[in-house]
Amino acid sequence: MNENSKEKQDKKPEIVKAVDSLRPVIEDIAVSLYKNPETGLNEYFASEKLTGILKENGFSVEAGVADLPTAFVARVGANRPNIAFMAEYDALPGIGHGCGHNLMAAVAVAAGIAMSRVCPPEECGASWTVLGTPAEETVGGKVIMVEKGVFKDVDAAFIAHPGQTNSVGGGVYWASHPLEITFHGRTSHAGGNPEAGINALDACVHAYIAIRNLRNHLKDSVRIAGIITHGGHAQNIVPDVAQMRFTLRSTDWRYLENVVIPKVKQAAEGAAQMVGCTVDFRHHEMLFRETLEYPVLKRICAQNFAYVGAEVPPPDPSYAGGGVTDVGSVTWVVPAIQIGFSATSARGHSVEFAESTVTPRGIDAAVMAAKVLALSAYDIVAEPHLLEEAKAHLRERLST
Ligand SMILES: [Zn+2]
Repeated sequence: MNENSKEKQDKKPEIVKAVDSLRPVIEDIAVSLYKNPETGLNEYFASEKLTGILKENGFSVEAGVADLPTAFVARVGANRPNIAFMAEYDALPGIGHGCGHNLMAAVAVAAGIAMSRVCPPEECGASWTVLGTPAEETVGGKVIMVEKGVFKDVDAAFIAHPGQTNSVGGGVYWASHPLEITFHGRTSHAGGNPEAGINALDACVHAYIAIRNLRNHLKDSVRIAGIITHGGHAQNIVPDVAQMRFTLRSTDWRYLENVVIPKVKQAAEGAAQMVGCTVDFRHHEMLFRETLEYPVLKRICAQNFAYVGAEVPPPDPSYAGGGVTDVGSVTWVVPAIQIGFSATSARGHSVEFAESTVTPRGIDAAVMAAKVLALSAYDIVAEPHLLEEAKAHLRERLST
């Protein structure tokens, strides 16, 4: 592919047609995953199904990447740039695909296959990858895949999440650090010889209050939420162990790591010292980063929504967000964007949402989203300065 914009214009209708022809594949994936919902890291059916389809379509598949049995990399071509479409396919316990990840898988696979057909690597000089990223709802498979270097070989990544509206991002995903704090003291008879005990619960309660009070001296864009998960065995025993779990959130992962976490630890250590306990810390879940927005990728995706005749309403400025996604961590290592596509009017994480993913509206929406992703990937390959602009944005944000 070259900078010849005439050639570029010529390929877009072909891409749209290629995705349309993949509608049966999209429907097959959406429905079969809907019927076989699997929670995070148990997505064996989904992972086999998707890699099977990709192999049939000429992709070479590496399964079990990043030591995650249900993660995979499926790729055509060895050239750079290598553009990835990310698939999610984990379901929610009890309600199946109430977050619509079955549609996300269908979109990524269809976009990848469409691009491999319309712009084969030997012709266009780029490779196309479909990344199988498991367990978004639980451990955050992408965070692990980032840590294990899966994205070293990727130049840009796209993903589409179903919801109530079309969107091209909106800064609503926060960084989040789960922190488990455990205090260790010494048991004794609470009535007979309390003086021999060291009360871990006392330290825990002091620390809980101190940590909550930190809110007064942190930036507004921080949320501190915690519970006491263990406070002793019985009231006639001085508690030797007490434990809390916090989720610390911020719109800036560096502020979280460099300021918030150290202050929280300091407060807990102070409380432990006051009582004579020891304290230890553990991240009991993965650390999520906020989503870095790429103006250039937002612009391209918005243009391609328009190209396929879909409207993108302006984001609601009053919505501050606070949720997390493992896509955030990806955006800090390669240019990446998550678009939203209007597939349902049901609320997220509901049975109704799951049901709507297999309706004609849900499938139509997935076809539309696959077109937007494929066309956008095409744009950054056809016009290399766009990808360069996105990479420059990442470098700049990392250096500030
Ligand atoms: Zn989701």
